[in-house]
Amino acid sequence: MGDLDQSLTSALTLANGNAVYPLSAVERAAILAVYELYDALLGQPDAALTPADLNAARPYLQAAYDQVQIGGRLARLRERLLASTDQCPYCGFGEPRDLDHYLPRSVYGDLAIYPRNLVPSCSPCNNAKRTVVPGLGPAEGPGLIHAYFQALPDADFLKADVAFVAGALEVCFEIDATQLDAGLAAKLQFQLDRLKLNARYRGQINIFLSEQRTAMLMFRELEAALFSQYLVKCAGDLAARFGRNDWRVALLRALSSNADFCAAPQDYLGSQQAEAA
Ligand SMILES: [Zn+2]
Repeated sequence: MGDLDQSLTSALTLANGNAVYPLSAVERAAILAVYELYDALLGQPDAALTPADLNAARPYLQAAYDQVQIGGRLARLRERLLASTDQCPYCGFGEPRDLDHYLPRSVYGDLAIYPRNLVPSCSPCNNAKRTVVPGLGPAEGPGLIHAYFQALPDADFLKADVAFVAGALEVCFEIDATQLDAGLAAKLQFQLDRLKLNARYRGQINIFLSEQRTAMLMFRELEAALFSQYLVKCAGDLAARFGRNDWRVALLRALSSNADFCAAPQDYLGSQQAEAA
């Protein structure tokens, strides 16, 4: 807790040494207790995360998040968190530029600068998420997956439903709830819907498949009978990097078992002649 203690001091002390808010020993201990409780609750909301002991300090802790921004006294915390990953954990493709307050600072102000409540995320996900916390007004829902705390089962639960319509590939991702407990399935599906991931994946799928195109078409030409297995192998390689429920993995799994695609991938990827032209 030493680093956290130091962060609190930096957050609430001006560069000239004057206190923004004179945090008492009791308040300091109460904040560290809230941090510990947050970990114990795996980041899930609870009234005990906003104890009355911190009512006076809370607005100052909320405002202290400004110091996590570029140029602030806690800017290094921001840099460290953003450097920890190069992919947004919510969508799996966006570049993390924002820090998402998993529990919103408007409600859970005591957690405004707690690193484990700050999830590096891309701006579209962060904007779409906004205060998605169970029990909180219009955004009410089961909440989103917590990138630091949510354990996921070792099973393929992200499924891609692939269809070919008028020569175009249409993909719809969905959660296969059969292998999940109901609460987790509801969360994963809510995340997919709330962040409008199916619409946002469309452009990414085109980019991804155009990157795979040359290798796919070449393999299909040389070893047509093994093409489906090739896609399964590609899915496995990506799963080792991004996890078995990454959207690219789910897409390749679906394509590997799609007879139309395996029979004529060039119909959807374009021919090699087209590439040369
Ligand atoms: Zn994202």
